[in-house]
Amino acid sequence: MASLLCRARVLAVAGRSLMVSSVRTMSKPGGIPLNVDHATGMEKLEMDMKEAGLEDPFDLKVKNVVPGTRESPTLVPSIFEKRMVGCVCEEEATVVNWMWLEKGGVQRCECGHFFQLTEAAPLQPVQRV
Ligand SMILES: [Zn+2]
Repeated sequence: MASLLCRARVLAVAGRSLMVSSVRTMSKPGGIPLNVDHATGMEKLEMDMKEAGLEDPFDLKVKNVVPGTRESPTLVPSIFEKRMVGCVCEEEATVVNWMWLEKGGVQRCECGHFFQLTEAAPLQPVQRV
């Protein structure tokens, strides 16, 4: 009798674990919500932009550019009055030289590379279908 009860309990537990769905339930009524369903504000905006095809909406990825000169500085877009920029001054450098770029003029890194902050258009929200 005890083994029958134990067997019935094991089957009940095993049956429950088989009810887990492996299908994505994005925004489906009654489904498990995804991160995009919980996101708000800037996180939501970033997820929507990525889904719309813009992989780097805040322009945060590392870029390899030719060193900017005073006459032709490396242009850094921003919607703000200033932006933090990191310069890997030498190819083998193990540290990043961080500095604030401010709108208005050309700024020089300690290594001699020149940067300039430029105006960028603010991101527009994407309508999710
Ligand atoms: Zn530098």
